[in-house]
Amino acid sequence: MTTIYKPLQTKPDADALDPGFLRDVALGAVRLTPEQGLDLFRQQELFELGRWADARCRQIHGDHIRTYVIDRNINYTNVCTAKCIFCAFKRAVGDDDAYTLEYEQLFEKIHALSEIGGTQVLMQGGMNPELSLDWYIDLLQGIKERFPHIHVHGFSPPEFIEFVNFFNPPGSSLEDKLRWVMVRLREAGLDSIPGGGGEIFANPVRTKIGLGKCDAEAWLTTMYVAHSLGMFTSATMMFGHIEGIADRIHHMDLVRQWQDKALLDFGAPDFPDFPIDQPLQPHTPHTQSRTAGGHYKAFISWPFQRDNTALGRVREWGAQPEDHEPGAVFPGDAVASLAGDGDPKSHAEFGRRLRLSGSTDYLRTQALSRLYLDNIYSIGASWVTMGPHVGQIGLQFGASDMGSVMMEENVVSSAGTTYCLDEAVLCKLIRDAGFTPAQRNNTYDILSIKDGPDAPDHLVEDWSTHRAQRLHIQGACEAQSTELTIGASSD
Ligand code: SF4
Repeated sequence: MTTIYKPLQTKPDADALDPGFLRDVALGAVRLTPEQGLDLFRQQELFELGRWADARCRQIHGDHIRTYVIDRNINYTNVCTAKCIFCAFKRAVGDDDAYTLEYEQLFEKIHALSEIGGTQVLMQGGMNPELSLDWYIDLLQGIKERFPHIHVHGFSPPEFIEFVNFFNPPGSSLEDKLRWVMVRLREAGLDSIPGGGGEIFANPVRTKIGLGKCDAEAWLTTMYVAHSLGMFTSATMMFGHIEGIADRIHHMDLVRQWQDKALLDFGAPDFPDFPIDQPLQPHTPHTQSRTAGGHYKAFISWPFQRDNTALGRVREWGAQPEDHEPGAVFPGDAVASLAGDGDPKSHAEFGRRLRLSGSTDYLRTQALSRLYLDNIYSIGASWVTMGPHVGQIGLQFGASDMGSVMMEENVVSSAGTTYCLDEAVLCKLIRDAGFTPAQRNNTYDILSIKDGPDAPDHLVEDWSTHRAQRLHIQGACEAQSTELTIGASSD
């Protein structure tokens, strides 16, 4: 049966803190306005916000299963034309430690992933002007010839925008040019597109921190083209730096708007977590791929990591006596607007003060994303930078997915602490949070429910020696053991 997607209606006059209204939000009967989102973020008690986000999550995903995926993040090159001031990973052409992996190195990494039951490779790089379109096509064809069972989740929107700049494809619009490149990469083996490079969409913030990276319109257009080709993608947000809280909500609002557009233009998915014309009924997670049009499958947000970055050297908010004077406002909040059109000149210190995100700010942001993004299936717990146990708590704050069991990570770990977990620890974290762990694939279909005596965590006899490790460099995870590890995911 074909379903007609209908975006939820808003109720602008409702008090965002009214339990009756929030119950309707949790049931998927009404959608938050940006103003209500801001009120909820600022005024709702943390645990109450988490409780409503959890209710929404349970409405979509049921009470039992929470998922993870086994994949490997391969950063195929660190050469990049952009100069994002939050990035400790990029190198310029000619730098001593600049690299581009050889095909054989890439194939070896994917072989190792395949050997341990991995299902997906996440490939993201810098934007390297020395690589041709044929380099990418040959790479993708080579992967699919050798590993037809591995899903290739690769090349985030900023990379695609630079592909257009580097390869000069035919077409009279950005959309045409993107489609020309994307069709070729898709034919060569690209399966889906990760949401890297989302950062914060609002222009005043984006132009300060993401020098040389595409703007929000180009980022969202890239994903729209992918959706038009039937591809699934994810959306991300990196917060906890110079942005205001309204910028986070504006970011979520753009994702929600463009998801509406994709679902309306390319067909609604026929799994029952999306509103049709009545409030949703609780259900169990789907177990087979659907054939609906492309759209965002997931939203993942994480806090900025400051180590080794130019942005990390910016003075922290609260460090100066005047920051505590009555009426003092964080510059990001003074500039931010729910419409994303704040005037960066409206505060002299905008971009010069940093407001890092701690655990409660992270949980608050993640919970709000679950309530706000009523048309997105999965919210990921990005525990990688906050630590496994904050991620675990995230499962009670609206997250349905614990992200990636990966074998390496290089980008986020260049800028601060990330963690390594093996599959057993990951399953234990999910189980101890009150859920049954399940391995999923890229389309969020369940591959294996880990509820028997052979579940990875049930096979561990001594948890005193079986713990999370911290990861600072790629080698730390790989050297740790032959088992799976979890690293940072920017999908
Ligand atoms: S964040 Fe990505 S696009 Fe920006 S400089 Fe680093 S590698 Fe390049």
